[in-house]
Amino acid sequence: MNCLPWQQEQWERLCSYQEKGRLPHAILLEGPRSTGKQTFARAFANYMLCSSPRNNEPCGSCHGCQLLKAGNHPDFVDMEPEEGGKTIKVDEIRAFVTSTALTPQIAACRITLISPAEAMNSAAANSLLKTLEEPNPGNHILLVSHAPWELPATIRSRCQHLMFPLPAKQEAIEWLTAQQPDDEWPGLLDCVRGAPLKALEFQQHGLDSYREEKRRFAALLSGKANLVEVGMAWSKDETGMIANWIYHWTLDLARANESGIMQMHDRELADWLKDLIPQLDSVKLFSVLDKLSSLQQGIRSRNLNVQMQFETLALELMEAGT
Ligand SMILES: [Zn+2]
Repeated sequence: MNCLPWQQEQWERLCSYQEKGRLPHAILLEGPRSTGKQTFARAFANYMLCSSPRNNEPCGSCHGCQLLKAGNHPDFVDMEPEEGGKTIKVDEIRAFVTSTALTPQIAACRITLISPAEAMNSAAANSLLKTLEEPNPGNHILLVSHAPWELPATIRSRCQHLMFPLPAKQEAIEWLTAQQPDDEWPGLLDCVRGAPLKALEFQQHGLDSYREEKRRFAALLSGKANLVEVGMAWSKDETGMIANWIYHWTLDLARANESGIMQMHDRELADWLKDLIPQLDSVKLFSVLDKLSSLQQGIRSRNLNVQMQFETLALELMEAGT
């Protein structure tokens, strides 16, 4: 098990701390979702628990590697919200805090993975704090977080921070193409804000609904859609994702409006709307982009009537085209 190509620098940094015997007790792996922080954390736990690592990589075949692969290594604790649940509860953290008093059983250290760390409720975070204040030798905690600002400052200040930014687009495309050749990767990456693991999941499971919503979007601009029906469809589920798609398509149209249809990323949309694009109202398009930004904020804080907002947006799109 290895890290992803765009995580090489972070990997080498941790390996060098480890070689010098200076690996921090608590490391906070932070960065945007779906870039592979969890993959990295598991791979690094594997490296730490391997009895004969080579060239900074786990061997994959020793007793430790085998146990980890089978999911029952006694020195690896994996703490994630229970299936369907959203929080990591205090009981789980307490049980772990008690167990950190134990010395490693078969490996040279014990590794705990808490992911996502912001899923700890405040009682759980308080309980963990004691362990971070008085770490036990041979225990390392890897906290994975997509939203580190949601963690108490007391936790953050006791961790070494390791940042995982989005990979460069070209690097992500090369990796995705190696997973599965597809000409659509550049466009798909745009749709998921550059997160490669999300793009892969999207390509495998989400493309049908993406095309369906894109058809709705094009129909609106051509004045051939029912506003209420569109508002309902867009506000049903995955609203954040749909708002992101609409942003992506609208931006593409605004780009075409400024610099010509050849500048569009989405060739299919360009083809559907080629006759309409020269007549689009660019002021309306930019107003839609503005509204989408506040809609996305509202979706995140769950404090607005999403269906009504999508209907307003649909109306504006219709007006932009007709
Ligand atoms: Zn091994």
